[in-house]
Amino acid sequence: MKDKYDVIVIGGGPAGSTAARFAAEKGVSVLMLEKDREIGVPVRCGEAVSKKGIEEFIPSDDKFIATAIERFSMIAPDGKEVILPLEEIGYILERRIFDYELARLAAEKGAEIVTKAYVNGLLFDGDAVNGVKVERLGETKEIKAQVVIAADGVESRAGRWAGLKTVVDFRDMESAVQYTAANIPVDQNTLYFYFGREVAPEGYLWVFPKGGNKANIGIGVSGLIGKKKSALSYLNDFMNRHYPDAPILTTVAGGVPCSITLKKISAPGIILVGDAARQVNPLSGGGIVSGMIGGMIGGETAADSIKMKTPKHLLTYDKAWDDRLGKRHRTFDRLKNGVYNFSDKKFNAIAAAALKIPQNKITLGSLFKTALINQPSLLIDAAKVFFTK
Ligand SMILES: Cc1cc2nc3c(=O)[nH]c(=O)nc-3n(C[C@H](O)[C@H](O)[C@H](O)COP(=O)(O)OP(=O)(O)OC[C@H]3O[C@@H](n4cnc5c(N)ncnc54)[C@H](O)[C@@H]3O)c2cc1C
Repeated sequence: MKDKYDVIVIGGGPAGSTAARFAAEKGVSVLMLEKDREIGVPVRCGEAVSKKGIEEFIPSDDKFIATAIERFSMIAPDGKEVILPLEEIGYILERRIFDYELARLAAEKGAEIVTKAYVNGLLFDGDAVNGVKVERLGETKEIKAQVVIAADGVESRAGRWAGLKTVVDFRDMESAVQYTAANIPVDQNTLYFYFGREVAPEGYLWVFPKGGNKANIGIGVSGLIGKKKSALSYLNDFMNRHYPDAPILTTVAGGVPCSITLKKISAPGIILVGDAARQVNPLSGGGIVSGMIGGMIGGETAADSIKMKTPKHLLTYDKAWDDRLGKRHRTFDRLKNGVYNFSDKKFNAIAAAALKIPQNKITLGSLFKTALINQPSLLIDAAKVFFTK
């Protein structure tokens, strides 16, 4: 590690590696610091992405794809199952390999990557951030940078150190827990979603196949619900009902910020990307691709501001993100709040109505249209995301 870089990225997840890559590609010097000893480990994720989403950044490759997804199955509280063929396929990733590949791409573009490097503070020049304090192998070092990119995930502290408001409403911080289990005899090309007050109030439970009869089985419930009964208890209830003898290979837990993006995601000398900026899709809880998009925009904006010698250019990042996905996430957030309020009766009625739609006509958009038929304002939101490009 040198004493000075143009850009320092804190965190080596998908958002951090993508930010590092796109900044380095523009010819500025980049250092990415990851606190864990290995990029991509531990995996705390259901690993579902759309093919189109990742292919903006990396060609599909069997080495990081566990299985390809062709359809969704939505299971209502009364057990009715609606199958939705997908217009565009998805994947369940092997994230430890995928994250590694993203870091490798950043390194290929010239970014320096250091693991076991824990950032425990920022450096300031007046109000502007101009570097980080990093702990590595028992030593603390100060490293200067023109721009710091905070990609330190859901538990991010760097934004707060810079004076940005990073608190997420308790209800929007989904509490998630997931098992990877063996001997789960589900279709390997279908994602299963379970809804209802008993199964996953203010959230959903997922069964995502991982090949070889393994599956990621997890649940996310709102922070408010999780306080009364833990996400883990809901998950255990489900496992006892459906897969009581399944061997559990891994257990992971974490928060998912299912909220709109923070009001401000840049300040002099620093920007936030990925979960740190709350760039997760609030309806689905998916944050891999949206974090990479934030990382790309952030990395490019950082490099441009350095090359233009115009530090203020960094602050254009907020609008660039908002134009690309931030606005869309506000629409998803309204839809999420609508769906949160559905009763079991409503979920059952939606499934019954959807089962009357001919199989070759049913899409995610038509399902939402059925669900929101009596809620015109939400129907407009659904139309915005499902029927416009
Ligand atoms: C149970 C669960 C299931 C999920 N399922 C899906 C899914 O199916 N699909 C999907 O798209 N999304 C899913 N998500 C969300 C997804 O995992 C995140 O949105 C995504 O990982 C965000 O990427 P990121 O790079 O912003 O953060 P992260 O991947 O969390 O990376 C942040 C990195 O920063 C490092 N770091 C943190 N602090 C420091 C520090 N001080 N110094 C140095 N390094 C630091 C961390 O070690 C970590 O490697 C799920 C989340 C959970 C919890």
